[in-house]
Amino acid sequence: MSFQLPPLPYAKNALAPHISEATLEVHHDRHHKKYVDTLNELLEGKPLAKATIEEVIKESASSGKPSPVFNNAAQVWNHTFYWHSMKPKGGGPATGEISKLIDKTFGSHEAFAKDFRKAAETQFGSGWAWLVLDKGQLKVTQTSNADLPLAHGQTALLTIDVWEHAYYLDVQNKRPDYVGRFLDHLLNWDFANEVLQKA
Ligand code: FE
Repeated sequence: MSFQLPPLPYAKNALAPHISEATLEVHHDRHHKKYVDTLNELLEGKPLAKATIEEVIKESASSGKPSPVFNNAAQVWNHTFYWHSMKPKGGGPATGEISKLIDKTFGSHEAFAKDFRKAAETQFGSGWAWLVLDKGQLKVTQTSNADLPLAHGQTALLTIDVWEHAYYLDVQNKRPDYVGRFLDHLLNWDFANEVLQKA
């Protein structure tokens, strides 16, 4: 059983006008698929081919320098997590259980949004910004390339992809516009609450 490309959790035009159908088409059907295909090629006939994606990531992360297996496995996981970090008509202040943690940790939604925005905008080059649980503490972090919280003993709660392929068709080089759309219109607090409950 090889790794599969999971379907998007919504229609390709469901995030428009904030993220266009064209962007989701290229990002999911080509970029995400390519990571899945490459991972399957790299693991063909190897014991890790039968492991879970999390096991592949943890096993390959322990070698220190990011290997092709780590990079592709992490990007498979990161993209699946990113699709769920968004929903149509999302965004705005946190709801549910996590809203209490956001207020306790950051003081307000605005303070959280400022930190998250900064992490997403200042990640130099390709990477990700995250809301994570680190030893029971909420934190905003950023990672480069394929790197992810799981490789650092943290639990991811939300993420935004800040590789250029995530936003270039829609806003070209204006990454801050994309980050604003994510925070104000797309962010999926229901998903963060689900993950938090299982953490
Ligand atoms: Fe991406």
